[in-house]
Amino acid sequence: MHKISKDKVIYAMSKENTPVLHVDAGSQIRFETEDALHGQIKTDTGGFDGLDWSRVNPATGPVYINNAEPGDVLSVKIEKIDVASSGVVVCGKGMGVLGDTLIGNAIKIMPIEEDKARFNDIWLPLNKMIGVIGTAPKGEAIPCGAPDYHGGNMDCKEIKEGATVLLPVNVVGALLAMGDLHAIMADGEIGVTGLEVSGAVTATIDIIKDKDLPTPMIINETHVMTLASHEDLDIAVEMATANMVDYLVTHENKDIHDAVMLISLIADVRICQVVDPKKTVRVEFPKKFL
Ligand code: CA
Repeated sequence: MHKISKDKVIYAMSKENTPVLHVDAGSQIRFETEDALHGQIKTDTGGFDGLDWSRVNPATGPVYINNAEPGDVLSVKIEKIDVASSGVVVCGKGMGVLGDTLIGNAIKIMPIEEDKARFNDIWLPLNKMIGVIGTAPKGEAIPCGAPDYHGGNMDCKEIKEGATVLLPVNVVGALLAMGDLHAIMADGEIGVTGLEVSGAVTATIDIIKDKDLPTPMIINETHVMTLASHEDLDIAVEMATANMVDYLVTHENKDIHDAVMLISLIADVRICQVVDPKKTVRVEFPKKFL
Protein backbone atom coordinates (compact mmCIF):
# COMPACT_ATOMS: atom_id res chain seq x y z
CA MET A 1 0.00 0.00 0.00
CA HIS A 2 1.15 3.54 -0.80
CA LYS A 3 1.23 6.16 1.97
CA ILE A 4 1.21 9.94 1.94
CA SER A 5 2.17 11.76 5.10
CA LYS A 6 0.14 14.71 6.34
CA ASP A 7 2.86 17.25 5.70
CA LYS A 8 2.15 16.84 1.96
CA VAL A 9 -0.76 19.25 1.74
CA ILE A 10 -2.29 21.70 -0.70
CA TYR A 11 -4.66 24.59 0.04
CA ALA A 12 -6.18 24.77 -3.42
CA MET A 13 -7.04 22.14 -6.01
CA SER A 14 -5.09 23.13 -9.12
CA LYS A 15 -3.66 21.68 -12.30
CA GLU A 16 -0.45 23.51 -11.33
CA ASN A 17 0.11 21.44 -8.18
CA THR A 18 3.06 19.05 -8.23
CA PRO A 19 2.01 15.44 -7.58
CA VAL A 20 3.44 13.87 -4.42
CA LEU A 21 2.76 10.33 -5.66
CA HIS A 22 2.17 8.58 -9.01
CA VAL A 23 0.08 5.40 -8.96
CA ASP A 24 -1.63 3.00 -11.34
CA ALA A 25 -5.37 2.36 -11.31
CA GLY A 26 -6.21 -0.29 -8.71
CA SER A 27 -3.76 1.10 -6.16
CA GLN A 28 -4.55 1.41 -2.49
CA ILE A 29 -3.34 4.57 -0.77
CA ARG A 30 -3.32 5.67 2.86
CA PHE A 31 -3.74 9.45 3.09
CA GLU A 32 -2.71 10.88 6.46
CA THR A 33 -4.67 14.09 7.01
CA GLU A 34 -4.55 17.23 9.14
CA ASP A 35 -7.77 18.60 10.56
CA ALA A 36 -9.48 21.52 8.81
CA LEU A 37 -7.77 24.03 11.14
CA HIS A 38 -4.39 22.43 10.49
CA GLY A 39 -4.07 21.42 14.13
CA GLN A 40 -3.77 25.05 15.23
CA ILE A 41 -6.42 24.83 17.96
CA LYS A 42 -5.31 22.77 20.93
CA THR A 43 -7.36 24.21 23.81
CA ASP A 44 -10.92 25.37 24.54
CA THR A 45 -9.70 28.71 25.84
CA GLY A 46 -7.23 30.05 23.30
CA GLY A 47 -9.79 31.54 20.90
CA PHE A 48 -8.94 32.24 17.28
CA ASP A 49 -6.26 34.82 18.04
CA GLY A 50 -3.09 33.90 16.26
CA LEU A 51 -4.89 31.48 13.94
CA ASP A 52 -3.28 31.53 10.51
CA TRP A 53 -6.36 31.46 8.24
CA SER A 54 -4.14 30.82 5.20
CA ARG A 55 -3.47 27.34 6.60
CA VAL A 56 -7.07 26.18 7.03
CA ASN A 57 -8.62 23.41 4.93
CA PRO A 58 -5.45 21.54 3.94
CA ALA A 59 -5.90 18.49 1.70
CA THR A 60 -3.32 15.73 1.44
CA GLY A 61 -1.93 15.10 -2.04
CA PRO A 62 -2.25 15.46 -4.90
CA VAL A 63 -1.92 12.02 -6.41
CA TYR A 64 -1.32 11.55 -10.12
CA ILE A 65 -3.18 8.51 -11.43
CA ASN A 66 -1.43 7.05 -14.46
CA ASN A 67 -3.62 6.91 -17.60
CA ALA A 68 -6.34 9.10 -16.10
CA GLU A 69 -7.40 11.45 -18.90
CA PRO A 70 -9.89 14.29 -19.14
CA GLY A 71 -13.36 12.84 -19.64
CA ASP A 72 -12.65 9.77 -17.49
CA VAL A 73 -14.23 9.30 -14.09
CA LEU A 74 -12.11 8.65 -11.01
CA SER A 75 -13.50 6.06 -8.60
CA VAL A 76 -12.34 6.40 -4.98
CA LYS A 77 -13.47 3.54 -2.73
CA ILE A 78 -13.25 4.60 0.92
CA GLU A 79 -12.01 1.49 2.70
CA LYS A 80 -11.21 2.87 6.13
CA ILE A 81 -11.24 6.13 8.09
CA ASP A 82 -9.12 6.40 11.24
CA VAL A 83 -9.51 9.44 13.48
CA ALA A 84 -7.32 10.91 16.23
CA SER A 85 -8.15 10.72 19.95
CA SER A 86 -9.68 14.19 20.07
CA GLY A 87 -11.38 16.67 17.78
CA VAL A 88 -12.53 20.28 17.84
CA VAL A 89 -15.89 21.94 17.18
CA VAL A 90 -16.34 25.72 17.04
CA CYS A 91 -19.00 28.34 16.50
CA GLY A 92 -19.06 32.09 16.74
CA LYS A 93 -19.65 35.54 15.38
CA GLY A 94 -19.86 35.67 11.61
CA MET A 95 -19.64 31.91 11.19
CA GLY A 96 -22.31 29.49 10.07
CA VAL A 97 -26.05 29.90 9.68
CA LEU A 98 -26.53 31.93 12.89
CA GLY A 99 -23.23 33.78 12.85
CA ASP A 100 -24.96 37.17 12.77
CA THR A 101 -26.70 36.46 16.06
CA LEU A 102 -23.66 35.26 18.01
CA ILE A 103 -21.44 37.69 19.86
CA GLY A 104 -18.40 35.73 20.94
CA ASN A 105 -16.61 32.63 19.77
CA ALA A 106 -16.72 29.20 21.39
CA ILE A 107 -14.37 26.27 21.03
CA LYS A 108 -14.86 22.78 22.39
CA ILE A 109 -12.22 20.07 22.36
CA MET A 110 -13.96 16.68 22.41
CA PRO A 111 -12.18 13.49 23.49
CA ILE A 112 -12.80 10.49 21.23
CA GLU A 113 -12.89 6.93 22.52
CA GLU A 114 -13.57 4.03 20.16
CA ASP A 115 -16.88 4.82 18.46
CA LYS A 116 -17.99 7.87 20.43
CA ALA A 117 -16.92 11.38 21.45
CA ARG A 118 -17.74 13.33 24.60
CA PHE A 119 -19.64 16.66 24.40
CA ASN A 120 -19.79 18.01 27.98
CA ASP A 121 -21.27 14.96 29.75
CA ILE A 122 -22.94 13.39 26.69
CA TRP A 123 -21.26 10.68 24.65
CA LEU A 124 -22.21 11.09 20.98
CA PRO A 125 -21.82 8.32 18.37
CA LEU A 126 -19.20 8.87 15.66
CA ASN A 127 -20.14 9.08 11.98
CA LYS A 128 -16.66 9.41 10.50
CA MET A 129 -16.57 11.10 7.11
CA ILE A 130 -14.38 12.99 4.65
CA GLY A 131 -15.09 16.72 4.25
CA VAL A 132 -12.74 17.55 1.37
CA ILE A 133 -12.14 15.21 -1.58
CA GLY A 134 -11.58 16.31 -5.14
CA THR A 135 -9.62 16.43 -8.35
CA ALA A 136 -7.89 19.37 -9.99
CA PRO A 137 -10.34 21.62 -11.89
CA LYS A 138 -9.65 22.24 -15.57
CA GLY A 139 -9.52 26.02 -15.24
CA GLU A 140 -8.65 28.28 -12.33
CA ALA A 141 -7.51 26.77 -9.04
CA ILE A 142 -10.28 26.30 -6.47
CA PRO A 143 -9.45 26.72 -2.74
CA CYS A 144 -9.81 23.48 -0.76
CA GLY A 145 -12.45 25.23 1.39
CA ALA A 146 -14.88 25.43 -1.54
CA PRO A 147 -17.00 22.70 -3.12
CA ASP A 148 -17.72 22.67 -6.86
CA TYR A 149 -17.99 20.37 -9.88
CA HIS A 150 -14.58 18.84 -9.06
CA GLY A 151 -15.65 17.79 -5.53
CA GLY A 152 -13.78 19.78 -2.90
CA ASN A 153 -15.27 20.80 0.46
CA MET A 154 -18.61 19.06 -0.04
CA ASP A 155 -18.87 18.16 3.66
CA CYS A 156 -21.18 15.25 2.88
CA LYS A 157 -21.71 12.73 5.64
CA GLU A 158 -22.21 9.94 3.10
CA ILE A 159 -18.52 10.12 2.12
CA LYS A 160 -17.70 7.48 4.68
CA GLU A 161 -16.29 3.98 5.01
CA GLY A 162 -17.73 1.65 2.36
CA ALA A 163 -18.75 4.43 -0.02
CA THR A 164 -17.31 4.94 -3.48
CA VAL A 165 -16.91 8.56 -4.56
CA LEU A 166 -16.95 9.28 -8.30
CA LEU A 167 -15.13 12.44 -9.38
CA PRO A 168 -14.44 13.96 -12.78
CA VAL A 169 -10.99 13.73 -14.32
CA ASN A 170 -10.46 17.28 -15.59
CA VAL A 171 -6.72 17.20 -16.21
CA VAL A 172 -4.24 14.48 -17.14
CA GLY A 173 -3.46 12.42 -14.03
CA ALA A 174 -6.60 13.68 -12.21
CA LEU A 175 -4.57 15.05 -9.22
CA LEU A 176 -6.65 13.61 -6.38
CA ALA A 177 -6.43 15.13 -2.89
CA MET A 178 -8.44 14.72 0.30
CA GLY A 179 -8.57 15.83 3.93
CA ASP A 180 -10.82 17.57 6.47
CA LEU A 181 -12.05 14.49 8.32
CA HIS A 182 -15.03 14.84 10.62
CA ALA A 183 -15.58 12.36 13.46
CA ILE A 184 -19.17 13.62 13.77
CA MET A 185 -21.28 15.86 11.54
CA ALA A 186 -24.97 16.32 10.82
CA ASP A 187 -26.54 17.34 7.52
CA GLY A 188 -26.28 21.12 7.25
CA GLU A 189 -23.16 21.61 9.40
CA ILE A 190 -24.94 24.76 10.49
CA GLY A 191 -22.41 25.99 13.06
CA VAL A 192 -19.61 25.96 10.40
CA THR A 193 -17.71 22.87 11.63
CA GLY A 194 -18.26 19.23 12.39
CA LEU A 195 -16.07 17.50 14.94
CA GLU A 196 -12.91 18.41 13.06
CA VAL A 197 -10.20 15.80 13.46
CA SER A 198 -6.89 14.66 12.04
CA GLY A 199 -6.55 11.05 10.94
CA ALA A 200 -6.04 8.84 7.91
CA VAL A 201 -8.06 7.52 4.99
CA THR A 202 -7.35 4.25 3.20
CA ALA A 203 -8.79 4.31 -0.31
CA THR A 204 -8.60 2.28 -3.52
CA ILE A 205 -8.40 4.31 -6.72
CA ASP A 206 -9.72 3.24 -10.10
CA ILE A 207 -10.43 4.83 -13.47
CA ILE A 208 -13.76 4.46 -15.29
CA LYS A 209 -13.41 4.98 -19.05
CA ASP A 210 -16.09 5.84 -21.61
CA LYS A 211 -18.91 6.42 -19.16
CA ASP A 212 -20.07 10.00 -19.00
CA LEU A 213 -21.35 9.99 -15.42
CA PRO A 214 -22.83 13.12 -13.82
CA THR A 215 -20.11 13.62 -11.19
CA PRO A 216 -19.67 14.08 -8.32
CA MET A 217 -21.51 10.93 -7.27
CA ILE A 218 -21.47 8.55 -4.32
CA ILE A 219 -22.39 4.89 -4.51
CA ASN A 220 -22.81 2.76 -1.40
CA GLU A 221 -24.48 -0.55 -0.62
CA THR A 222 -27.98 0.85 -0.76
CA HIS A 223 -27.99 4.09 -2.75
CA VAL A 224 -26.70 5.93 -5.80
CA MET A 225 -26.29 9.64 -5.03
CA THR A 226 -25.71 12.71 -7.15
CA LEU A 227 -24.24 15.85 -5.59
CA ALA A 228 -24.14 19.47 -6.67
CA SER A 229 -22.92 22.73 -5.15
CA HIS A 230 -24.04 26.31 -5.76
CA GLU A 231 -24.19 29.59 -3.83
CA ASP A 232 -27.98 29.36 -4.08
CA LEU A 233 -29.46 26.33 -2.31
CA ASP A 234 -32.46 26.23 -4.66
CA ILE A 235 -30.16 26.03 -7.67
CA ALA A 236 -28.04 23.34 -5.95
CA VAL A 237 -31.25 21.28 -5.54
CA GLU A 238 -32.06 21.72 -9.24
CA MET A 239 -28.51 20.76 -10.28
CA ALA A 240 -28.32 17.63 -8.11
CA THR A 241 -31.79 16.56 -9.29
CA ALA A 242 -30.92 17.18 -12.95
CA ASN A 243 -27.81 15.05 -12.44
CA MET A 244 -29.90 12.19 -11.04
CA VAL A 245 -32.35 12.47 -13.96
CA ASP A 246 -29.38 12.41 -16.33
CA TYR A 247 -28.03 9.30 -14.60
CA LEU A 248 -31.38 7.47 -14.73
CA VAL A 249 -32.04 8.38 -18.38
CA THR A 250 -28.53 7.83 -19.72
CA HIS A 251 -27.34 4.91 -17.62
CA GLU A 252 -30.51 3.17 -16.41
CA ASN A 253 -32.60 3.56 -19.59
CA LYS A 254 -35.45 5.38 -17.88
CA ASP A 255 -37.87 7.61 -19.73
CA ILE A 256 -37.35 11.20 -18.55
CA HIS A 257 -40.86 11.52 -17.07
CA ASP A 258 -40.54 8.19 -15.30
CA ALA A 259 -37.18 9.37 -13.92
CA VAL A 260 -38.73 12.55 -12.50
CA MET A 261 -41.69 10.68 -11.04
CA LEU A 262 -39.46 8.03 -9.48
CA ILE A 263 -37.21 10.65 -7.89
CA SER A 264 -40.29 12.38 -6.56
CA LEU A 265 -41.54 9.11 -5.09
CA ILE A 266 -38.47 7.39 -3.65
CA ALA A 267 -35.31 9.54 -3.84
CA ASP A 268 -34.62 11.79 -0.86
CA VAL A 269 -33.15 15.23 -1.57
CA ARG A 270 -30.88 16.11 1.33
CA ILE A 271 -28.67 18.99 2.34
CA CYS A 272 -24.99 18.17 2.85
CA GLN A 273 -23.90 21.60 4.07
CA VAL A 274 -25.03 25.23 3.90
CA VAL A 275 -21.98 26.99 5.37
CA ASP A 276 -19.22 26.72 2.75
CA PRO A 277 -18.69 29.19 -0.16
CA LYS A 278 -21.16 27.05 -2.14
CA LYS A 279 -23.92 24.95 -0.57
CA THR A 280 -24.02 21.23 -1.33
CA VAL A 281 -27.06 19.05 -1.95
CA ARG A 282 -27.40 15.35 -2.66
CA VAL A 283 -30.14 13.20 -4.17
CA GLU A 284 -30.25 9.62 -2.85
CA PHE A 285 -31.79 7.00 -5.15
CA PRO A 286 -32.34 3.52 -3.64
CA LYS A 287 -30.41 0.93 -5.69
CA LYS A 288 -33.00 -1.80 -5.18
CA PHE A 289 -35.30 -0.01 -7.63
CA LEU A 290 -32.71 0.24 -10.39
CA1 CA B 1 -15.26 21.13 5.69
